[in-house]
This record gives sequence, C-alpha cells and structure tokens, in this order.
Amino acid sequence: MDKKLLSIVAPAYNEEEVIETFCTTISDLCAKITGYDYEIVIINDGSSDKTESIMHRIQQDNSHITYVSLSRNFGHEIAVTAGLDHAKGDIVILMDADLQDTPSIIPEMIAKYEEGYDIVNAKRSTRDGETFLKKFTAKAFYKVFSASSGKVKMPENVGNYRLVSRRAVESFKELRETHRFARGLFCWIGFPTTEIEFAREARFAGKTKYNYKTMINYAIEGLTSFTVAPLRWATYAGCLAILFAICYTIYVLFMVFTNDPNLQPGWSSMTIIMLFFGSLQLIFLGVIGEYLGRIFNETKNRPLYFIKEYSPYYNPNKKPQ
Ligand code: UDP
Ligand code: MG
Repeated sequence: MDKKLLSIVAPAYNEEEVIETFCTTISDLCAKITGYDYEIVIINDGSSDKTESIMHRIQQDNSHITYVSLSRNFGHEIAVTAGLDHAKGDIVILMDADLQDTPSIIPEMIAKYEEGYDIVNAKRSTRDGETFLKKFTAKAFYKVFSASSGKVKMPENVGNYRLVSRRAVESFKELRETHRFARGLFCWIGFPTTEIEFAREARFAGKTKYNYKTMINYAIEGLTSFTVAPLRWATYAGCLAILFAICYTIYVLFMVFTNDPNLQPGWSSMTIIMLFFGSLQLIFLGVIGEYLGRIFNETKNRPLYFIKEYSPYYNPNKKPQ
C-alpha cells in the first residue's frame, strides 16, 4: 500500500537562529513515524536575515525539505495560506518555526486523525515565557470573540498549531479573503474537530515578531473579519442611550412642573451629555470605518501573495521520496 504523505508547514520570518534546528528536529521526528512519508515546507515570509540562504543550504542535504520565498513580508496569516497552497500532503500540520509548538505531540495528533478527525487543534495548557498582560489580553480576546461570533465557536488557547486533513485544506483554500484570521477560518469550515493539550515552550531562540500594537491590530482584525456584531452593538448602545434620554427628560419635566428650586440652567449636565454622546458617535463612526475599510480592501480582490523563489528542486506535483 502507498504510504500517505505528511506535510509540515511552517512560516518563517527572520528565524535564522532557529530554522535549521527546527528542520532537523522535525525531520528526525517525522522519519520515525511509520506509515507516512513526509515533507517540510517552509514559507520564507520575506525575511531580511539569513533565513533564505540557510534554507537553500539545508534543502540540498535533505530532499524532504522545500521552501517557498514570498516576494516580501506578507505577515503570518498570508504565509500560512501560502504554505497550505503548496503543501501536497494527505495531512498537513501547521506550526511555528520557532519550536514553541512542541513537536513531540505530532504522533498523537496523527493518531487523532486516524480516529477520523479532520482538524486536530493543539491547545496550549501553559503559556510559558509570555507576560501577564499577553495572557490577560489573549483571554479577554477569546471571551469577546466567542460572545460575538454566533455559531462559530473558537476554542480558547488554540494558536496556529494544528493538523488539517486534505479535504479540510481544500476547503480552507477556497477562502481567499484578504483579511484573514486562520484560526477562526478553521472553525468556520467545520469538519470533525478535536483538540489535544500541550505545554507551549518558550521560544527556542530569536525574538517574537508580535508586540502589543500588532496584537491589538490582530485582535481587531480577527473580530471584524469575522462578524458584523460590533455594528449591532452600535444599535444596542443607541437604544440604551435613547432610554436614558427619555428617563432624563421625564425627570427634568418633573422638576419643571414641581417648581423644583434645584432646577438651574444646567451647564455641567449639558456638557457631560454632549461629551458622552459625542464620543459614542465617534466610536461607532470608527467601527463603521473599520468595516468600510475592509469592504474597500476586499473589493480590490488582489492576489494574496507573490512568490519570489522556489527551492531549487521544488516540483509542485512530485511527492518526496
Ligand atoms: N511569522 C511570519 N511572518 C510575520 C511574523 C511572524 O511568518 O510577519 C512567523 C514566525 O517566523 C513564526 C510564527 O510566524 O514562525 C510565529 O511568530 P512569533 O513566534 O513571532 O509569534 P508568537 O509565537 O510570539 O506569537
Ligand atoms: Mg513564537
């Protein structure tokens, strides 16, 4: 019987310190898995360091390793999409190239696949090496997301580390939107899904590419590319504000009719109310702007990425030996 092919897909942006260790670790591990051939597909996301030349060197010694270099830095989400477009495996495992995603659970993930699951998410049981604020904001994000995304339930603490079956990959590839939030999209496509826990390691070497600014942007991206619920919050907030205004008017009228001595030309209350509603309007103008911007970007319908270079022996149709 023909062996099945396992593809390991990892995006790499300036990972010169770790990429070689990553490839050898994964290669050693995959070679031991019985019943599967394997390929390692590294998407070099426009690295400006030596990542590409290191990849060029190591793929010469190991025919299981290929890489695809994008024409510039497109960001993690697009790099993952490019990886899925190029992976040929019957099953694809997505992971980060910095060895934070513990490779030793790969056989366990494959076992779940063999039980009949299409998507096996690796759930982080610990988040070592991350600051309190990062953990806290991550938790808050999951709460807000699941409260607003309707039928799409996103599991908590699942990052990009997951196994995806061929048919799930094919479905994912049909989603070509510009604003992408892969972990949400994997929930959206459906298919039998399960998760296994792992303790996330601290980075093996190198630095994280995410700071708070990129993380806040990422959270807004995730939310708005998924749900129009924030637009509805505007309606709810508007209803609440009107309710408040009616009650306040009744109160003022009551003071007028009872000749309340406290009734003064109310400068301070006016100012507060104006400020309040002024800011509310501005906030939601911003929210509407977010969506308008996204409509603008999506209608351009640009290709998601361009490829600068394939690894020398890359053959889109050939399975590695
Ligand atoms: N990455 C990428 N393009 C980017 C930023 C990051 O391909 O613009 C890759 C990076 O090389 C790594 C993975 O995405 O393999 C996760 O990035 P990182 O480790 O910096 O994120 P963290 O683990 O801190 O959330
Ligand atoms: Mg990392």
